[in-house]
Amino acid sequence: MLRRFIKYYKPHLPLFILDFGCAFIMAGMDLIFPFVVGLMIDDILPNKDLNTILLVGVGMLFLYIIRSVLQYIVDYYGHVLGTRMEFDMRKDLFDHLHNLSFNYFDNTKTGHIMSRLVNDLNEISELAHHGPEDLFIIIVTLIGAFFIMFFTHWPLTLITFSILPVVLLFAVIKNKKMQEAFRNLRSKLADINSQVEDSIAGVRVVKSFTNEVYEADKFKSGNENFKNSKEDTFKVMAEFYAGVTYFANFIHLVVLIFGGYFIYQGTMTTGALIKFLLYVSIFLQPIKKLTILMENYQKGMACFHRFVETLEIEPEILDKPEAKEITSVIGELAFNDVTFSYNNRKSVLQNISFKVKPGETVAIVGPSGAGKTTLCSLIPRFYEIDGGSIKIDQVDIKDITQKSLRQNIGIVQQDVFLFSGSVRENIAYGKIDATDEEIIVAAKRANAHSFIMNLEKGYDTYIGERGIKLSGGQKQRLSIARIFLKNPQILILDEATSALDNETEKVIQESLAELSQNRTTLIIAHRLATIKMADRIMVLTEEGIVEEGSHDYLLEKDNIYARLYKAQFSDITQDIVLS
Ligand code: ADP
Ligand code: MG
Repeated sequence: MLRRFIKYYKPHLPLFILDFGCAFIMAGMDLIFPFVVGLMIDDILPNKDLNTILLVGVGMLFLYIIRSVLQYIVDYYGHVLGTRMEFDMRKDLFDHLHNLSFNYFDNTKTGHIMSRLVNDLNEISELAHHGPEDLFIIIVTLIGAFFIMFFTHWPLTLITFSILPVVLLFAVIKNKKMQEAFRNLRSKLADINSQVEDSIAGVRVVKSFTNEVYEADKFKSGNENFKNSKEDTFKVMAEFYAGVTYFANFIHLVVLIFGGYFIYQGTMTTGALIKFLLYVSIFLQPIKKLTILMENYQKGMACFHRFVETLEIEPEILDKPEAKEITSVIGELAFNDVTFSYNNRKSVLQNISFKVKPGETVAIVGPSGAGKTTLCSLIPRFYEIDGGSIKIDQVDIKDITQKSLRQNIGIVQQDVFLFSGSVRENIAYGKIDATDEEIIVAAKRANAHSFIMNLEKGYDTYIGERGIKLSGGQKQRLSIARIFLKNPQILILDEATSALDNETEKVIQESLAELSQNRTTLIIAHRLATIKMADRIMVLTEEGIVEEGSHDYLLEKDNIYARLYKAQFSDITQDIVLS
């Protein structure tokens, strides 16, 4: 894992060397001041040598300028290094996510993916540059201070350093407790966050059922847990800082008392004692840092672990090396004995076989949950089938590159997803390099042009997440315009008009009828008007395709289709039947 982490430093080696080189020198420079103070008190001041004092002053001034420059480099370029590594990792992760198959997204919460891309990588970035930097500074400071002190007065050095393990142990134990408290706090915070989100998102429901008091009660316990957890955290933090301060003072005191004794004995000079006290102050800083470093290391590595875990998820559906591009598709579609289940659970489709001729329109009807949407999502190979084969123009879709396969299939669904962006961009999603003329032609054919022109900024109107809201029918027309631009030979309409009112449906029906001209079309339909567009109807139930034929034929047969028809279509769509 660590090796994989180090790999991300590689492209930024010069920056790494600059940052850590400067941190190294800076830590070394901080050891000079106490040394100079000792020298001043013991050797220079007793001689009353004003010139040397001045010289030392000027020298130190110069040194401090250099130190500031180094600090600037470490602060700035260190963060630049971390940020660039984070950039690389984020790119890797984003690219990888888009290669993953639907199964992954079906089983992963968007919130988790988001927290990986944002929070986790931020932690990793912090560790990436503060980690080695702090480690360098700690090592240089501790070792440097030890040797200088040792050669000044070794007995006092040994006494001082013998206390350090106790301080370290205390810091480590308390730090662990603090981490637990922080973790607990974060999870309690996540709890109330999601509770607030839920309650606010559902505020209409809350109010219409006048359940404000119930919601408040539910929130109370979460809020209380968070408060308690926060109080616990501050308790541990207070203990930690009180303890660390106590030990810091204790070490100073030990140095002062023993140093005083050694001075009294005549084995130590005043300058040396002051030098010792200053060194103690200096190396206590990194010890505090060490606990933070350990915490960052744990957090950062845990995040990196999750990062690598995600990167190592293999896309389930890969192109065969010898997979072909398909370019001019005629549009014959065949299912041969297709069997499918999601994640090897109960099988959704069993032994499904049918053929659709080029340009033919086939309606699939059946009860909800029968597997109609599933069947359609197998054609662009969003999921891998367990048995049988699906062929387009007599070529197995497994022998076709996923890209060229999907380029030849257009899907219109009930839920339309619009990206944040202009109307123009959203239509052009069907063909990224479309010209303005092509976009307008597509919009006109989708019956979208006139409503777009009535928007405030026409094709430049901003829609999506933070843009203006469009009605269901308007969104659907944009999604149809996309498909006109894409111009695929095979078309799937999955309840494209189910959510629309009758008036809107009629308009969209016209566009869909035009869209399906000369394309092989599968329509999953809820309403008679849609079904009437079809040359043929297939009835899909849990038993498979149980009936097939024209509307009139199936009605006459008076079996499943006839029952579905009576239950679902007859009354609600009467006006359409008549028109
Ligand atoms: P229909 O479109 O005919 O209403 P679906 O194809 O959506 O039916 O669903 C068929 C069955 O597959 C249902 O039992 C449904 O619960 C299940 N299903 C649909 N999508 C998934 C999925 N992504 N993961 C697991 N099971 C699913
Ligand atoms: Mg469906």
